[in-house]
Amino acid sequence: MRKRILLVTLLVSVVGILLLSVLFSAVFYEQTLDRTRSQLKIYMGIYRAEFADSPLTAETARALSEELGGARVTFLLKDGTVAADSGAEGALENHLERGEVQEALETGEGYAVRRSATLRENLVYYCCSFDEMFTLADGTPQEGALVRIAVAGSSGYAIFAGALPTVVWFLIVDILCCLFVAWMATSFVLRPVEKLTLEAAHGGGKEVRTEYAELAPIAKMMNDMNADLHEKVEKMKEDRRIEKLVLNSMEHGIVIFRDPADVILINRTARRLLDYETNEPVPCFVNDREIAAILESGESASVVRSIGGRYYAFRFTFNEKMRVLLITDVTESTQAARSKNDFIANVTHEMNTPLTSIRGFAELIAAGAMPPEKLEGVANTIMRQSDRLANLIRSIINFSAIDSDELPDYEVDLSELLHEAVSAFEPKIAQKKLRMKADIGNGVKVMSRRERLLEIVNNLVSNGIRYNKEGGELSVTLTGGPVPVLRVSDTGIGLSEEDKTRIFDRFYTVDKSHNGTGGGFGLGLAIVKKLCRRAGWKLSVESELGKGTSFVIEFSAANQKTAQNPSPEANGIG
Ligand code: ADP
Repeated sequence: MRKRILLVTLLVSVVGILLLSVLFSAVFYEQTLDRTRSQLKIYMGIYRAEFADSPLTAETARALSEELGGARVTFLLKDGTVAADSGAEGALENHLERGEVQEALETGEGYAVRRSATLRENLVYYCCSFDEMFTLADGTPQEGALVRIAVAGSSGYAIFAGALPTVVWFLIVDILCCLFVAWMATSFVLRPVEKLTLEAAHGGGKEVRTEYAELAPIAKMMNDMNADLHEKVEKMKEDRRIEKLVLNSMEHGIVIFRDPADVILINRTARRLLDYETNEPVPCFVNDREIAAILESGESASVVRSIGGRYYAFRFTFNEKMRVLLITDVTESTQAARSKNDFIANVTHEMNTPLTSIRGFAELIAAGAMPPEKLEGVANTIMRQSDRLANLIRSIINFSAIDSDELPDYEVDLSELLHEAVSAFEPKIAQKKLRMKADIGNGVKVMSRRERLLEIVNNLVSNGIRYNKEGGELSVTLTGGPVPVLRVSDTGIGLSEEDKTRIFDRFYTVDKSHNGTGGGFGLGLAIVKKLCRRAGWKLSVESELGKGTSFVIEFSAANQKTAQNPSPEANGIG
């Protein structure tokens, strides 16, 4: 701005000075011309007074010229013929067409300013017409003639050119003065504006003030803008904070990136799962061939990866500029799928074994190849295998029936139920030579249904017997209070850490080899878990491999009185 003001000031002043110079030159030229005309009139007067009777000869012209200080004198006939001229020897061309001659013939006198072709200088001509009798050089009389006197005169251009050096000096001084004055003026005007701008920029949002009334609207505008900006920045910060909070509290991992080393956004979960360090390429984008190939192809795709014992689905989507990776924990569904596969394998195996043996025996009997004394033993085997098949089918039906069980709860005497259940297992306990410890508090009541509680107790106790060591200990403890607690413990084979997390899955059995040899189908604990979850009870397991296992159920009073379909989150394992 300062530069522009300086330039404009300079331009205006230079153009002004040049125009003034031209104007002055023109005025000066006009004045000079007027003076010259007056001078020429005086010269003509001298001619009239002293040379009017002289012949129109070159001598007379030169004498007059000398008298007039060197002015050019020309005598002309009225037809334009030059009779004599003080400045030129010999005949001159006809002057009838010259402006001053024409004017003099019409009005008696005429002026002209012209460059003389004869003398090659700028001349001011004054011509007068006379009607008296004259004598020509050859002595012949002549009626009427024209006398023209010319003196050198400056042209406007010559005047301007003459003044030019002065004008140039004047211009230099003018430019310097202009520069100085414009600099001072702009400084004076701009300083408060600059101060205002600096305050607004670096004042940290503080209100800007000015002592100049003219700048008050600007200051107000700046303050309004500052306030608006501040509000917007705060809003943006808040939005960003919320965005960050949402992203970081998501259990899903999210990564938005342009290429493996150019990550635009990554949330906490993804950072942890991908072991990502800022400014480094995301490790799996480079090291995992399948993922690298997906990124290369640019086509949306998913892969599943195992990280820290859990399974995660990596879903890649692409748009023109960005790529997005969404990481979802699919451990549950992967394990469920795995359990399902186990189930199919188990069920096939479980069904196949008894069916094969039943069919084999039936074929032998049909062919009459079975000795009669073995028939009883074979019939017993066929019945055992059929029972096992029936058990398997019942367990599956039981498991799926829980979901559709909407029957109302009522108060069940759990103490009584436990006594009954435990005594029903006495033969099996004796068979395995187990020490039975039952510490069952009296009158402990729970809101549920008898068949459900029986299912739970039977499963836990039968497992305590089945997975116990010969001669081991089985203990059943029930404590009352606001939250009754049931604990079924054994000193059996125990569980590994990994198995502890999986035994509640459907069809999961730790030792697959026991199938068909008296082991269950892996549905018992899944049923227990499902029943506890629906009732809102907390089910947990404590176990040490080789030492034994305890299953604990806390019958939460609040839940058991009200809940028919409690939320899955209410339970300890799930
Ligand atoms: P199953 O009918 O096979 O016993 P469960 O669902 O009751 O099925 O148990 C699942 C698996 O958990 C069992 O196969 C077994 O390996 C393990 N398990 C259950 N209870 C115990 C226990 N008390 N001690 C050791 N392992 C157990």
